[in-house]
Amino acid sequence: MADGSPVMTFDPYAVRAQFPILSRQVNGRPLVYLDNAASAQKPRAVIGALVATMEGGYANVHRGLHTLSNEATEAYEAAREVVARYLNAETSEQVVWTKGGTEAINLVAHGLGQSLQPGDEIIVSEMEHHSNIVPWHLLRERRGAVLRWIPIHDDGSLDMAAYADLLGPKTRMVAVTHMSNVLGTINPVAEITRMAHAAGAQVLIDGCQGAVHAAPDVQAIGCDFYVLTGHKLFGPTGIGALYGKAEALEALPPYQGGGEMIGVVEKDRITYAKPPARFEAGTPPILEAIGLGVALDWLGQFDRAAVRAHEEALYQRAREALRGVNGIRVLGDAAGKGAILTFAVEGAHAHDVAQIMDRYGVAVRAGLHCAEPLAKRLGVTSSTRASFALYNTLEDADAFAEALIKARNFFV
Ligand SMILES: *Cc1c(COP(=O)(O)O)cnc(C)c1O
Repeated sequence: MADGSPVMTFDPYAVRAQFPILSRQVNGRPLVYLDNAASAQKPRAVIGALVATMEGGYANVHRGLHTLSNEATEAYEAAREVVARYLNAETSEQVVWTKGGTEAINLVAHGLGQSLQPGDEIIVSEMEHHSNIVPWHLLRERRGAVLRWIPIHDDGSLDMAAYADLLGPKTRMVAVTHMSNVLGTINPVAEITRMAHAAGAQVLIDGCQGAVHAAPDVQAIGCDFYVLTGHKLFGPTGIGALYGKAEALEALPPYQGGGEMIGVVEKDRITYAKPPARFEAGTPPILEAIGLGVALDWLGQFDRAAVRAHEEALYQRAREALRGVNGIRVLGDAAGKGAILTFAVEGAHAHDVAQIMDRYGVAVRAGLHCAEPLAKRLGVTSSTRASFALYNTLEDADAFAEALIKARNFFV
């Protein structure tokens, strides 16, 4: 502005007011919800869209020739377009609905498994979520694939030199998270992809956290597959999406069999639909897809850089409050990391820490965070995680630090 006063580009209090659940009390205290990396709360826009669809425009999609079915189909396919735009996919045909991030990765792993030779290699990293580990372990057990692990540095960043050494002629797939759900590390996914492609391997990026941190550009990343999940993006549970390059999806065999995914079905012959229908057997999660579309449109109204700056400020506020407090070890300090603060309290199990914090109304997550190999690497048996979202405030960060210090005082 001309007078030099700051421009308010983002108001967390106004956003907060759109989330009915955030005004409730927990254990007699105002709720401080810091479990966003496990699942985010839903704004009125999403809740209202689900109700409005059920009350006014619901029927099964596709093939129905009646008005309600046509309306539902239109809304459902429009949501696919929203996801395609959010990811900057070339077309919405590259977006496959799944029931979440987990199913999307299983879909790709299952398809790859059909053409895998024993000894073929799959590269994952030490910071992966079990959803991006176990589907590849299944290929190890069933198809003789070899899993190779990109190590991490002590600050929680990937060891890219070690990654370069792991790549080779046997590498078929590199499956890496965009953003760690424990460390908050944001990985250089475009570079990871470029290196994998140079070695002739495909790339799957697990964007279950990364797609919340910022709207990804799958064309700029260049990956073959990108995965997101709806419930962490302020949308419903039971919905996620798999983006694939056209040729990568075309090369994948069907995942599940049923209605909608076929071309012709005869007694001794079958053909399959083109992607994305090939991978969408049965009645899809119609309401959930529509809800996710609304959630992404809702998210799209904000200046995302301002949102990230806000979340970063919350993270720094909480981090600063813990500096100099004995007995708390923060895990993950990579440059440019997202607003996830995971820590171990000396002499305490993370479950006890989280339970004490809950008494003060502070919701955090405790345990292994579905990332057991990472816990081993970090040398912890459990940890506690606070993950910030756009509707959290500086007061939340302060309440978090206060509750944590009280919890820690139990154990020292
Ligand atoms: C949450 C999460 C998943 C799994 O997503 P679901 O919604 O449980 O299917 C996978 N990877 C990462 C990094 C996650 O945070």
